Amino acid sequence: MREYFYSNISMQTPRRIAVVGSGLVGSLLAITLRKEGHHVDVYDRRPDIRKTQFSGRSINLAMSMRGWKALRSVGVEDEIRQIAMPMDKRAMHVNDKPVYFQYYGKEGEAISSISRGVLNRKMITLAEREGVQFYFEQKVWDVKLPEAIIYTGETERGEWREHRYDMVFGADGAFSRIRHKMQRRSRFNYSQHFLDTGYKELSIPAGADGQHQLNKNSLHIWPRGNFMLIALPNLDGSFTCTLFMPFEGENSFDELTDDEAVLCFFKKHFPDAIPLMPCLSEDFNKNPISALVTMKCFPWTYWDKVALVGDSAHAIVPFYGQGMNAGFEDISALAKLMKLHGDDWETIFEAYQKERKPNADAIAELSYRNFVEMSSKTADPDFLLRKKIEKHFAEQHPELWTPLYSRVTFSHQPYAEALAIGERQEKIMDEVMRIENIHEIWQTDVIEERMLGLL
Ligand SMILES: Cc1cc2nc3c(=O)[nH]c(=O)nc-3n(C[C@H](O)[C@H](O)[C@H](O)COP(=O)(O)OP(=O)(O)OC[C@H]3O[C@@H](n4cnc5c(N)ncnc54)[C@H](O)[C@@H]3O)c2cc1C
Repeated sequence: MREYFYSNISMQTPRRIAVVGSGLVGSLLAITLRKEGHHVDVYDRRPDIRKTQFSGRSINLAMSMRGWKALRSVGVEDEIRQIAMPMDKRAMHVNDKPVYFQYYGKEGEAISSISRGVLNRKMITLAEREGVQFYFEQKVWDVKLPEAIIYTGETERGEWREHRYDMVFGADGAFSRIRHKMQRRSRFNYSQHFLDTGYKELSIPAGADGQHQLNKNSLHIWPRGNFMLIALPNLDGSFTCTLFMPFEGENSFDELTDDEAVLCFFKKHFPDAIPLMPCLSEDFNKNPISALVTMKCFPWTYWDKVALVGDSAHAIVPFYGQGMNAGFEDISALAKLMKLHGDDWETIFEAYQKERKPNADAIAELSYRNFVEMSSKTADPDFLLRKKIEKHFAEQHPELWTPLYSRVTFSHQPYAEALAIGERQEKIMDEVMRIENIHEIWQTDVIEERMLGLL
């Protein structure tokens, strides 16, 4: 029998709470707060996405253990599993080589591919089912932090409506309006860093038989140095692809100025993908090139009145597949603290930001580093051997060694701890890789003993 964190008896006095943003993190937070008996209103500037056609930007997300735990804790995991495709490995597409696979973890461990749009629609419906009230096409322009009052209206300079609450949560994404207001306060730290790499969504439709045209339980990667193509499976037989590439310079979006240039580029760099992408030109012309940003700030809360969650507090680049997972973990942390401290929201908020900030910084760092790993190292023989040795050693000594990827993806270890241990393990692996003939002797006792010694 499954265990849920929530009982029907609430430990908290019901409050009137506004959540700004009906994205993934906002919807999950709304469900969590409703389960505690609060009155929850969610405002979003967008129309109700359940009633709109998908725009071109339907990113696929990789959900891992942290995300699943948060969903399980509010009793919606099973429903979401139904819209997810398990991926237990990377499928590497390197030119002039057959496709090869790298398993992510131990047998039975997998991440899950989910369409962000489909997931978001479902989460909103689940939140409504709990009694959350949604107000769409309601842009929040301003917030009075000490009084938890938000203001909505048609335009920035037009007339605004005032909405009074006991508390306001900013779940309004990387370019958060709520954070913007907090930024104007003294001693508020803020930084943002854009990558020189952007991305564009493309697609691989289902084959004529309605089936997937590539292995459906894999995250496909075409690593090409400073650019790469990835493809994540959908339930309907299609794949959602993302091309990550510099905006300018050699092999950049700037160079792909017309259909011929795009086709030529794909023929040269992704020849096996071309026959699978009949809509390449159409997708390329239709879909925008989007930017990737890391955003950090502190504090995340204001008294017991306002708190930031998800991307509004910590936007990261997507190369570890952890942005949403980290946002969901914020909600798990809040839920735990709500149980612990009851009505003492000031303590809840203080403990929340203290616990989450170092972990958000750590996953930001790991995500940034993983771009290099995914786009250039995954095809490098030394890197592949390094991973094989780690895996081999971890199988023999599971109590001594868990690879960093598994710590981040298949565990609940705080990200900051995973980063620190990962750095120590990296140093050990650097030593091991310097051993002469390592490619020949990596499975021998000598290497095992050396690693035990280094540990
Ligand atoms: C290319 C790409 C790939 C990714 N892949 C992964 C992955 O594999 N795994 C993973 O875990 N994460 C991934 N992420 C990250 C993930 O998408 C985000 O972390 C997650 O969507 C953040 O959710 P959120 O609810 O905090 O913010 P958002 O999803 O940005 O939602 C914010 C909401 O607030 C609304 N809003 C904004 N401003 C206002 C306002 N002023 N008034 C009212 N409403 C407002 C918006 O309309 C929106 O609905 C990826 C991101 C990108 C860009």
